Amino acid sequence: MTSTEFRSLPGVERLLSDARLAALAGAYSREAVTGLVRRSLDDAREGIKKGQSAPGHDQIVGAVLELAARSWRPWPRRVINATGVVLHTNLGRSPLSRVAIEAATAAAEGYSDLELDLATGKRGSRQAHIGEILAQVTGAETGIAVNNNASAVLLALSALAAGREVIVSRGEAVEIGGGFRVPDVMRQSGAVLIEVGTTNRTYAKDYEAAVTERTAAILKVHPSNFAVTGFTHSPELAELAEIGRRRSIPVLHDLGSGSLLDTAKYGMAHEPTVQDSVQAGVNLTLFSGDKLLGGPQAGVIVGSATLMKRAASHPLARAVRIDKMTLAALSATLMSYLKGAAESEVPVWRMISTPLDALEKRAQEWSDAVRSGVVKRSESAIGGGSLPGQTLPTFVLAIAHPAGGPDEICAKLRRSPVPVIARIENDDVLLDPRTVMEGEDKTVIEALRSAIGT
Ligand SMILES: *Cc1c(COP(=O)(O)O)cnc(C)c1O
Repeated sequence: MTSTEFRSLPGVERLLSDARLAALAGAYSREAVTGLVRRSLDDAREGIKKGQSAPGHDQIVGAVLELAARSWRPWPRRVINATGVVLHTNLGRSPLSRVAIEAATAAAEGYSDLELDLATGKRGSRQAHIGEILAQVTGAETGIAVNNNASAVLLALSALAAGREVIVSRGEAVEIGGGFRVPDVMRQSGAVLIEVGTTNRTYAKDYEAAVTERTAAILKVHPSNFAVTGFTHSPELAELAEIGRRRSIPVLHDLGSGSLLDTAKYGMAHEPTVQDSVQAGVNLTLFSGDKLLGGPQAGVIVGSATLMKRAASHPLARAVRIDKMTLAALSATLMSYLKGAAESEVPVWRMISTPLDALEKRAQEWSDAVRSGVVKRSESAIGGGSLPGQTLPTFVLAIAHPAGGPDEICAKLRRSPVPVIARIENDDVLLDPRTVMEGEDKTVIEALRSAIGT
């Protein structure tokens, strides 16, 4: 019985001569399609072993076409973020500015002086230029850029504290999300974590009392994605910097989001800025490139030139090296800040600073165009490990109690030619114009029309 099933499977050559697969082979290659055919036949054999009957010729061709459509499409696919969450990790965090995109494209298109000193013709460092701009923008002595902030923290701890002790407040030995746990990163670096204080209250004197001849650093970690409220205390950065200076111990600050602008200007709490840390006398400040900085995925370290040299020459620095397209985009993003143009050029800041009436107008335009839903007040979030619990007032288009239910509408929006990602609140589907990029309104309207059937 089973052996007849196996024998009834069509052969590879027969399948490849099918007009549909021949067309696919023309568009890609015969080798690539043969690979998918073999995989589909393997799947069929597995099925037969489990007692299923052999699929026919058309079924296997269908499976191959489906596999090709799924895995050979361009990826990642553009989606529209109508969630109102500015830094949405699942959607790739920060979109890049026009200037950053152009810089990355230019770096990708040809050769560059990435590691060549054009004046001398000798080998240069890919960090020299970015170090200079980082210094100018943040007020620090120098800076380097690596793959992401997680690797920046790992690199700094490995280079400065392997085999020795690092003092951290008990309230900051936390998980930031996405698998970044301070105690685990610490262990990986070879440093010994010395927890001081309590979960809610830690004083400068707790740090001071823990200093021994084995102490390599004091690490402060910004509570990026949670807030401890009520009976709490943590020392000022300047107090820690002072202890560090007096006892000759470097003070490191994992700032997470690394904003260069003051979020208080937009009606939110003051997210500590990179400049705050530098001015407080922190020796190394570490932050992400694609959170509130609004640039590409990167990890940035700014601070003391002596410590930076140790970090940059550690073997791990090579393993977490930043790539040229990213460096180009990061450099261009920093130039927007240097020009004082971040609010108009960097998308995340353009979104954060959009006036409320402009958001209301756009939501109303969507509502008018689809002749459905109501425009109402709501809240946008920053997300991406920044300003937990803080929101920005916004206006959304709310599709109340849609036929088929809110989950079904959201699923339909995700299946649009350009997927639209909305959010559900109290069974309403909400679309927030704040995070919808310029030029995407028409696409949102088309997706909505087809999802709700107007
Ligand atoms: C986000 C975050 C990190 C990790 O940064 P990535 O750039 O995502 O690697 C580390 N520490 C803190 C405090 C963070 O908020």
